[in-house]
Amino acid sequence: MSDTSFLNWPFFEPRHRELAERLERWCQAELPRDHADVDATCIRLVRDLGQAGFLDGTAGDAIDVRSLCLIRETLARHDGLADFAFAMQGLGTGAISLFGSPAQREWLEKTRRGEALSAFALSEPRSGSDVAQLDTTAELDGDTYRLDGEKTWISNGGIADLYTVFARTGEGPGAKGLSAFLVPADTPGLEICERLETISPHPLARLGFNDMRLPRSAVIGQPGQGFRIAMSVLDVFRSTVGAAALGFARRALDESLARARGRELFGAQLADLQMVQGHLADMALDVDASALLVYRAAWTKDQGAERVTREAAMAKLFATDRAQRVIDKAVQLHGGDGVRKGHIVESLYREIRALRIYEGASDVQKVIIARSCLAQQDTARDEQNDKGKR
Ligand SMILES: Cc1cc2nc3c(=O)[nH]c(=O)nc-3n(C[C@H](O)[C@H](O)[C@H](O)COP(=O)(O)OP(=O)(O)OC[C@H]3O[C@@H](n4cnc5c(N)ncnc54)[C@H](O)[C@@H]3O)c2cc1C
Repeated sequence: MSDTSFLNWPFFEPRHRELAERLERWCQAELPRDHADVDATCIRLVRDLGQAGFLDGTAGDAIDVRSLCLIRETLARHDGLADFAFAMQGLGTGAISLFGSPAQREWLEKTRRGEALSAFALSEPRSGSDVAQLDTTAELDGDTYRLDGEKTWISNGGIADLYTVFARTGEGPGAKGLSAFLVPADTPGLEICERLETISPHPLARLGFNDMRLPRSAVIGQPGQGFRIAMSVLDVFRSTVGAAALGFARRALDESLARARGRELFGAQLADLQMVQGHLADMALDVDASALLVYRAAWTKDQGAERVTREAAMAKLFATDRAQRVIDKAVQLHGGDGVRKGHIVESLYREIRALRIYEGASDVQKVIIARSCLAQQDTARDEQNDKGKR
């Protein structure tokens, strides 16, 4: 049994507790799924989550970040692929939810019902962390944009029905010259160049855009707003990556507590060894501290904050790094079983790693946090100086 006492924290309302309980019942009946065919399993998971109503909050006018985090934490605790399938429905449509036109928003009905899968196509071979340098171009040619370039590491690539694609339209230099486009998967010129395999299999692909024609109405928001749109979407969804890490860590702690009670060593339970208790204490502390940062960021956004860049960066950085540590300890406490293929802690060990890389690597989160602290200090100093002049 997982510790759910955090649901009594003041960040949550009764509807969040009801959602967590309803989803827990669904997970116990439906998960984990067979991962032999990840494409088919993801498509099925999206459909089932949609039919059960759990995708309702992934897209639309008012995204409740606490609900997204609770759902990701719970799904990750039961099955990493279910968390992935859920997460992409939000990330892939985030730009449309926040900036889309009424016609573009018609897609959201389908993604919420689990009838269409979505993807977020930002990264390129030359620009992962350095988003502002992306090379894909979208040139206005009469009434259409002509897209050419390549994207890589695109989750749901190859199985998505719609892609949010970021390309250089040249309104200004670097980050000022990017735009976001809604690209249906059947648009001529879109090529799935390569399917990518990772240590924890998910649908991932490298995409090619070859002389693709898109109408002006495919632009999400305004031309030139692409960087701002990408950052706003990541601002909302970055805390949810921390929530997924929290779910993996909580599962690792649960498994370790059961193992410590169930394993006999030197004539006593593993749990009786004080060094083991020390590990369990560290794990519990990391889990609770991560939960506080994740739900602080989610709550702050839900209170109407326009941006939660620092809070979300802290939540993602801390929860993903600490989940890695918690899971490593869980592997250690399980001895040989911990590295045995197919064991739950072995799969958690593979599952957690990518979360410290995607949606902004841990080092990038540190830069974001430090810059935010410095900017706050500068603003406070300027205000103080202004008061002194008056
Ligand atoms: C499983 C998975 C799923 C993904 N899904 C998507 C997706 O759906 N859509 C999408 O667009 N992208 C996706 N990505 C891409 C992901 O966002 C990039 O891999 C990530 O941004 C890092 O870019 P990169 O791989 O090019 O590494 P690089 O940018 O080359 O960075 C390599 C390393 O350099 C360090 N570093 C980078 N910048 C700094 C800095 N400023 N200061 C200090 N150190 C730094 C970090 O340690 C970083 O890990 C996914 C990646 C993975 C692994």
